[in-house]
Amino acid sequence: MAKKQYVFYFGDGKAEGKGDNKNLLGGKGAGLAEMTNLGISVPPGFTISTEACVAFYESKKSFPPGMWDQSLAALKRVERSMGMRFGDPAAPLLVSVRSGARASMPGMMDTVLNVGLNEKTVEGLAVKTRNERFALDSYRRFITMFGSIVMGMSREHFEEILARKKTELRVKLDTELDAKALKELVVRFKALVKEETRREFPEDPREQLRMAINAVFSSWYGARAVTYRRLYNIPDSWGTAVNVVAMVFGNMGETSGTGVAFTRSPATGDPTFFGECLMNAQGEDVVAGIRTPLPVSELSKTVPGAYKDLMATYRKLEKHYRDMLDLEFTIQEGKLYMLQTRVGKRTGIAAVRIAVDMVKEGLIGKAEAVQRVGPEQLAQYLYPIFDAEVESKQQALGKGLPAGPGAAAGKIALTPDKAVEMKAKGDRVVLVRQETSPDDIHGMNAALGFLTARGGMTSHAAVVARQMGKVCVAGCDAVEVEDGNTVKIGSVVLKEGDYLSINGFTGQVYQGDVPVVESEVIQVVQGKLDGKKSEKYQRFALLLSWADEIRTLKVRANADVPDQAMVARGFGAEGIGLCRTEHMFFAEDRIPIMQRMILARTKAEREKELDKLLPLQKQDFVGLYREMKGYPVTIRLLDPPLHEFLPKREELMVEIAKLELTHADAAAVDEKRRLLARVEELHEFNPMLGLRGCRLGIVMPEITRMQARAIIEAACELAKEGKKIVPEIMIPLVGMLSEMKAQKDIIREVAEETMKKAGVKLTYLVGTMIELPRAAVTAGRIAEEAEFFSFGTNDLTQTTFGFSRDDAAKFVSFYMTRQDRCPNCQSAEVDWKEMKCRACGAVIAKKPDNILDVDPFATLDREGVGALMRLAIADGRKTRPGIKLGICGEHGGDPNSVEFCHQVGLDYVSCSPYRVAIARLAAAQAALVGGATAKPQAAASRQGAKTRSKAKSRR
Ligand code: PEP
Ligand code: MG
Repeated sequence: MAKKQYVFYFGDGKAEGKGDNKNLLGGKGAGLAEMTNLGISVPPGFTISTEACVAFYESKKSFPPGMWDQSLAALKRVERSMGMRFGDPAAPLLVSVRSGARASMPGMMDTVLNVGLNEKTVEGLAVKTRNERFALDSYRRFITMFGSIVMGMSREHFEEILARKKTELRVKLDTELDAKALKELVVRFKALVKEETRREFPEDPREQLRMAINAVFSSWYGARAVTYRRLYNIPDSWGTAVNVVAMVFGNMGETSGTGVAFTRSPATGDPTFFGECLMNAQGEDVVAGIRTPLPVSELSKTVPGAYKDLMATYRKLEKHYRDMLDLEFTIQEGKLYMLQTRVGKRTGIAAVRIAVDMVKEGLIGKAEAVQRVGPEQLAQYLYPIFDAEVESKQQALGKGLPAGPGAAAGKIALTPDKAVEMKAKGDRVVLVRQETSPDDIHGMNAALGFLTARGGMTSHAAVVARQMGKVCVAGCDAVEVEDGNTVKIGSVVLKEGDYLSINGFTGQVYQGDVPVVESEVIQVVQGKLDGKKSEKYQRFALLLSWADEIRTLKVRANADVPDQAMVARGFGAEGIGLCRTEHMFFAEDRIPIMQRMILARTKAEREKELDKLLPLQKQDFVGLYREMKGYPVTIRLLDPPLHEFLPKREELMVEIAKLELTHADAAAVDEKRRLLARVEELHEFNPMLGLRGCRLGIVMPEITRMQARAIIEAACELAKEGKKIVPEIMIPLVGMLSEMKAQKDIIREVAEETMKKAGVKLTYLVGTMIELPRAAVTAGRIAEEAEFFSFGTNDLTQTTFGFSRDDAAKFVSFYMTRQDRCPNCQSAEVDWKEMKCRACGAVIAKKPDNILDVDPFATLDREGVGALMRLAIADGRKTRPGIKLGICGEHGGDPNSVEFCHQVGLDYVSCSPYRVAIARLAAAQAALVGGATAKPQAAASRQGAKTRSKAKSRR
């Protein structure tokens, strides 16, 4: 049997691996293969596949059979291509060993440069390059990297020695250290290695290579990588590829350099090449953000040939990939080498702009543009900005690079741990750092935004901000983090906990808590800004109009009042899928009436109060109908338990005690006592499963009557104005056909009577929510009466899992993080590289499995809740082929759940007004991925719905 190929060579214009096989080669490996095949100048090398990494973990961290031999064979080819040999002092080949997973995980795993240097080859390198200083500089970098990454030493110890040397020689920059100083550093570094690890620094280049590959594989389970994977839902099972590439040097003098670039702006999508470089430096210096880099245009002056090549290369690559790319390059003595290309990460704002521009440029079609933007990325269009008037009066303390869009104002935290602590207390936090590093990720997650003193648009802080959707101002020279407690920005000294405001669109930094207002898109949607005047809105709307051409699923909104309906329409909602009428009763002027209605002793008393509520409810519906301009409006009858409208039992007891103590008016005390008695009467041990939903309307039919009357009277009023309204009256929490029928009969009776009185003939529908397993299982029967179903997946999830929607957060989050916890003490403080718990010291044999990977209240549980939905859909359609089907639980705005809704053939999803755009895009993407929906004879059945309904024939 042929041996498994784990190693894929690339070089001399040809690559063994395929550029589109990211799963096997990782993103970096695939990019290197593709660039090589395109004839772009790439140093030769080889990629060790992700399969090798998976096998490595399956066989107790040892290389799979054949992998090492294949690596050595590929190394020979690299030697031939470069005309150098690994470990040969006369012409020493050095290599870099880099991680590269399928999905980009910037800075989260390890990289080792200059592998192959030892006492002999460093001399050879010095002779060959006629640059002793350069050779020694590379050597001391190598020992630092290898020592800290491969041998597990603390990098700081190397840095301390380096800093001491600079102080001793009274120099500031690393580049000011001469060969003699560097030689001394190498000696000191090696002694440090011996001291700390009790072993010599490895001299054999092959041993170095073997150890470096091992370390890169191992970094897949490094703390940073694990945290990152959890944040971005990257499975542990993917593993990382390892790229071993011939070194080219950006630190060979002033005609050498290294840089990173984006073919378009990753922050705004502006279609101009955007890059940064550092001369006489290695790649790590740029990404780490330790020195603030120069704009790439500077290269046209220092190395014009390489600059020209870079321009030509980026154009060729962008045309080839038809997407915005991020590039890494090195210039060695005036010659350009590309080290990496991949589709660039971008903000949501940039994603939309790039997609729209590329359609206009003819690079991609509309469908592809729609697929290029993550639905959640659209949320960035809703980013707050500073109140322009207040901001214009601010004196900026400093200005940095606008690296992550939006506006953030909050209290300063100077360390990531502090940021987490402050956030836990409920503070808004701005994290201020000299520069950030991957170890800061938890603090960055807790903060609204970051401000850094050093680093450019591609520094760690900037990249992470754009990905996490955080606000970021990077490389603000005015910032000096002074000590653990204070930071100086310009001439002002601020303490941890003081307020600071940062503008991620302009880079401005202000003292204090500048008020934040809605984004441009929100302002347009709310009618405060003319859409034609906002380019951002124009692009946003254009992309969504393309999505609308593709999707088959309609998108409605959950809205209770006209204001919300207006916003929903602004975002393109095609109706209201859920109006929770109880929200109307909570208004200040209504709650006393509502309370009196609940306290009523007799039906007549109750009806008297309901009569007062009727005109108010009717006006609410008139407002909603007007706002929705003919689109369907689904109104749900009262759902929550009545005690929610009454004061809390304990509060009442305190009030009564106070009144008694102050000898207050007896009538007032009596009134309160009556209230307390009713509250106690209504008390339920498990109100979520108590007297709520349709049970209320069945026990107190006068409530249903009042609501039905208000709904129909309002529609009649508009009908008289010539406006067509088709109200959809929805009965909550139905579990039995008999419940459905009992409520529907009341509604029909009231509706007929109301229409007759008004002299208007309306079409209206009566349907139900499906939010109980019994309703799903007996949906075929319920559809005999129900003209539509709307899946209330909040309650359906609650009742299917038996998880209380109000109490589940605690254990659900535990269920989702179980795999990151020590199976012995459940602490999250585990070193997964060493498989050891830092908290209890237990050695862990096997990572535990998660109980849940996602929160079922956020993302629909396809296996359980989804199965009930499928059953209800199939049975509902059997009874009533044209039955209208929608969803109005929170899942209606979650892209993954929207995809499921498309697959099972719902007619619409309904979500919060602010998620309507996200759902529109998700619905289009679902249609593109899944093709036609599972709707059986959808169009035909809709027409025949009334005549062929079993419901009618059975009645
Ligand atoms: C639901 O249960 O999914 C639903 C939409 O109703 P509510 O959240 O109001 O219970
Ligand atoms: Mg519900």
